[in-house]
Amino acid sequence: MSMFDDIIYDEGPVPCYNCGEGQLNGFQSKDGPRALRRLTPGQLVVLAEGPATMYDFCDKCKTMNYYLVEPLVLPHETPEVPVVVTPRRSKDEKN
Ligand SMILES: [Zn+2]
Repeated sequence: MSMFDDIIYDEGPVPCYNCGEGQLNGFQSKDGPRALRRLTPGQLVVLAEGPATMYDFCDKCKTMNYYLVEPLVLPHETPEVPVVVTPRRSKDEKN
């Protein structure tokens, strides 16, 4: 069984970066505790101890949308930090 956490992204719903029509508002991540928690991106990077990936599936064009979530400050004994969120074409795409 593959577990994940739900990511509560206040900037959403986000248009699909492939077709522009689908609206994404059900992001998930496997980089956190994978315990079906509801996390903000800022909480996710703290629990992942660094950059993390969140994703959602576009029902319109059947494309998985991946976003890299990077902490703007080092996670350091704080529950949540500011982040920058960047689209990625695949789960493993690097900068
Ligand atoms: Zn789409």
